[in-house]
Amino acid sequence: MLSASQHVARASRRPVCQASAASCRGFSLFGNDETSRSGPSYLDMQSTTPVDPRVLDSMMPYFHGRFGNPHSRSHAYGWDAEEATERARGQIARLIGADAKEIFFTSGATESNNMAVKGVADFYGGTKKHIVTTQTEHKCVLASCRRLEVEKGWDVTYLPVDTDGLVDLKQLEAAIRPDTALVSVMHINNEIGTTQPVDEIGQICAAKKVFFHTDAAQSVGKVPVDVKKMGVSLMSISAHKMYGPKGIGAVYIRRKPRVRLRAVIDGGGQERGMRSGTLPTPIIVGFGEAAEVCMQEMENDQKHVDRLFHRMKDAITSRLPMIALNGSPSHRYTGNVNLSFACVEGESLLMSLANSTAVSSGSACTSASLEPSYVLRAIGVGEELAHTSLRFGIGRFTTEAEVDRTVDDVVREVTRLRDMSPLWELEMDAMESGGHKQAVTWS
Ligand code: PLP
Repeated sequence: MLSASQHVARASRRPVCQASAASCRGFSLFGNDETSRSGPSYLDMQSTTPVDPRVLDSMMPYFHGRFGNPHSRSHAYGWDAEEATERARGQIARLIGADAKEIFFTSGATESNNMAVKGVADFYGGTKKHIVTTQTEHKCVLASCRRLEVEKGWDVTYLPVDTDGLVDLKQLEAAIRPDTALVSVMHINNEIGTTQPVDEIGQICAAKKVFFHTDAAQSVGKVPVDVKKMGVSLMSISAHKMYGPKGIGAVYIRRKPRVRLRAVIDGGGQERGMRSGTLPTPIIVGFGEAAEVCMQEMENDQKHVDRLFHRMKDAITSRLPMIALNGSPSHRYTGNVNLSFACVEGESLLMSLANSTAVSSGSACTSASLEPSYVLRAIGVGEELAHTSLRFGIGRFTTEAEVDRTVDDVVREVTRLRDMSPLWELEMDAMESGGHKQAVTWS
């Protein structure tokens, strides 16, 4: 039987993926051959990533032959599974410069964020009652903070961000009080790709002796992350954002100086009492392998993503006027291309692209609501423009052909919708008379 990576290689007539990510880029969600792909182009990599074929290969033995419970201490099946989960723990620790004992498995970054925010609050609640975070955090951090405010009487400072989505370090420092237990600021924003100055935030928190948590779901595996350099006390990670399986993640909890949490899930005392429940060996093995592959491929991935970002940006701006890039142009993960298309009805654009391109309007995690994105509002994008924005996500397996097809589709549909828009007509008239107000903001 062929392995997943051999299937990819055969279908795409490329060598088996062992070292180079470029050799795996023919992999698609709808078949393994880019040339015969029948489904839409996938540009939603912030929402989730395909499992790398090498990761899939690593997981397979643990579903059937090596299926033991890693907590079974009395036989070889259990010992084998335990060895596999501990190896994965070490691989994940290495990716972020941590010790294996500082990695605790969870179901994903949502759980890790809940555990970090509520766990610290519960443990230190006797002496502390205040958290500092930002207005552009993922919903699971904001909702955890909200629950502490409403149910436990905590005080939360939600720091504003500037038009690039960056937090002001002076404002952050000034917000820390003697009763502050935790500062929680994400690393890379899932909607707009802005990268927060986490190293500096870590230094401020260390000087003020408060814990620093960062939601690194969108950064770990994509950009270099070193918990020591960042000075973080807690970090949330998700496997399915880094070419691993869904349903598994981790929280890093620093040992020295020690950070204590009250467990959110009680039971058999697994994960040293921090998070009870039988460890899911196959997906943990996949998570570990995903970390290993990310270490090997990070440089290739970054170059690939960067090249496609510029290809997309140059093509769209040269063919369409009045396009705004949301988020910081310089402090940015380039796998995120969040654009506003003036005078286009966002939902119509999304619907007209749905059959050809998988993209997201704002955050995939909140896209069930038709509210304009709270992240775009926080960076000062007006309601109208926020409604016209789409997030394109580029990753390891995105192909040039997918980007080019997407650009063609977007240009065609934006032009069609603008041609039907009375607002666009007004803008054009204003532009002709030299009085238009909305600039192209790519810089
Ligand atoms: N944090 C960020 C920044 C995210 O982008 C996401 C998912 O979109 C999450 C947390 C939740 O991650 P998970 O799906 O692993 O629960």
